Amino acid sequence: MAFDYDDSNIFARILRGEIPNDTVAENDHALAFRDIAPKTPSHVLVIPKGRYVSLDDFAANASAEEIAGFMRLCAEVCAREGIGLEAGQGFRAISNAGPHGVQEVPHFHLHIMGGRPMGPMVS
Ligand code: 5GP
Repeated sequence: MAFDYDDSNIFARILRGEIPNDTVAENDHALAFRDIAPKTPSHVLVIPKGRYVSLDDFAANASAEEIAGFMRLCAEVCAREGIGLEAGQGFRAISNAGPHGVQEVPHFHLHIMGGRPMGPMVS
């Protein structure tokens, strides 16, 4: 089954409190924390608290409440980091999935990256 979830992945361990994280925001359904190796001045990872491998797994199988909670937390991150359009800035949101997407951690996450102008999208 393509969406088999591995409970030993690093973000599962963060959610269980086994590994510390630099939390930016949290709600009942999602956690947002700073990437350990930031590629931009603001580089936050948003993850659902449920066991989802990838964006396609989450979008297909999460409840409406989980999806809403996740998306609201993304908005909160943009506001807290001052990188959203309301702040006159802007950001890039990326989700890598599977082997072609070169996904390192097999727990669905969105990279929210901002704080400087981005370059063009690259493959
Ligand atoms: P992916 O390639 O799966 O989209 O990216 C995984 C991201 O997780 C990478 O940007 C990497 O720096 C980040 N990362 C990996 N391990 C940890 C960790 O233990 N803590 C935090 N905060 N980020 C991590």
